[in-house]
Amino acid sequence: MTPAAAASLDTTERVQRAHLEADFYRFQDDLTDVERERVLALRAFMEDRVAPIADRTWADAEFPTHLIRPLAETGVLGSGIPLVARFENSAVYRGWAALEMGRVDAGMATFVGVQSGLAMNAIAVAGSEDQQRAWLPRMATGELVGAFGLTEPLSGSDSARGLRTTARREGDTWVLDGEKRWIGNATFADVVVIWAKDVADGQVKGFLVTTDSPGFTATKIEDKISLRTVQNADIVLRDVRVPEERRLQRARSFRDTAAVLRLTRCEVAWQAIGIAVGAYEAALRYAREREQFGKPIARHQLVQDLLVRSVGNITASIALCTQASALQDRGDHRDEFSALAKAFATARMRETVGWCREVLGGNGIVLGAGVARSFADAEAIYSYEGTREMNTLIVGRAITGHAAFV
Ligand code: FAD
Repeated sequence: MTPAAAASLDTTERVQRAHLEADFYRFQDDLTDVERERVLALRAFMEDRVAPIADRTWADAEFPTHLIRPLAETGVLGSGIPLVARFENSAVYRGWAALEMGRVDAGMATFVGVQSGLAMNAIAVAGSEDQQRAWLPRMATGELVGAFGLTEPLSGSDSARGLRTTARREGDTWVLDGEKRWIGNATFADVVVIWAKDVADGQVKGFLVTTDSPGFTATKIEDKISLRTVQNADIVLRDVRVPEERRLQRARSFRDTAAVLRLTRCEVAWQAIGIAVGAYEAALRYAREREQFGKPIARHQLVQDLLVRSVGNITASIALCTQASALQDRGDHRDEFSALAKAFATARMRETVGWCREVLGGNGIVLGAGVARSFADAEAIYSYEGTREMNTLIVGRAITGHAAFV
């Protein structure tokens, strides 16, 4: 065990006694002992290292890059990827890890989602063994930061067919041209997985583009009202030359891109539950302490109604995502399973953070009172990794047999 992990165990023991109140049906008890120990170590890290600075970094729109290496010590980067996973773990565990991060800071959960869920998984799913060995171990320790460049200014939901970024082969070199938008981590990443259309066969291929490549620029998107700590960038690629050995060797079409998204979409659903859990815990705390009409507001029936509806949403979402992840663990991994989890959990999250904000009255819109950041961050999670409409259409196609995208 690393010194950092050992140091966090005291806190882990402390948190272990405090079962998550929001886990009303105690689903977390079903993790293996090792998984539960790792979840609790991650919770301790989030509470000790991230929580104290989360409102400040959010207000300043800065990502705490100094925490990347210590975060990696918890084993959360690359979990589920055989070459670099620190311990054997299940998709259900990975869901709980996403929940624990989202509960404290959706920005940190999103960093991990991009680094590990998108960038590392792209290499694990679509890279050759040599590429996996060259990149994944250093990304798992946080030495190298990755990003995932799919979305473009003119192509968001329709990225399966609408990508305009092109890749042209010249001998053993590829020349990339185009623009990307919203790319998380990209202002400080070392490498971005860029998805581009091969002009020769019209298929989408993936390229490992180092951010020091001539012709590559990443400009931070300013003035966001949601996920402010996440460093999203507009990327421009002008005649960026990438050697053939940096083309993801097993990415042959958008199907391979979709395989990565299928893996991560369910984890985003779990992140959303985490955001709802964080807001619910703050609302419950506040309701017990705040007095109006001579008694704690928790004793007013209408306030209880908001809290019960919130815990109901959380419980239903955990149940649904637990089964979606369990199916993934059994190898039954379908687009529509992840899509339903993402669409359902993010919609329930959006209702829940609204109700929890309501419980805090005016204080619900102030940073520091525990709900405002979750309330704002929920909006971006609702839309990224497939909007509710897109995920609904994926499920709709599966249950009716009719695609209704266009
Ligand atoms: P659009 O596709 O323009 O959609 C606008 C609205 O129209 C939505 O409500 C949508 O649901 C609706 N709509 C579109 N088509 C249909 C239809 N056929 N039927 C019904 N409704 C429809 N991308 C990356 O590649 N990498 C990243 O790291 C990344 N990180 C992100 C982080 C944040 C904070 C955000 C906000 C976005 C990020 N994205 C990233 C992009 C994200 O995946 C897109 O924003 C998302 O896919 C939606 O695309 P869009 O914003 O272009 O909206």
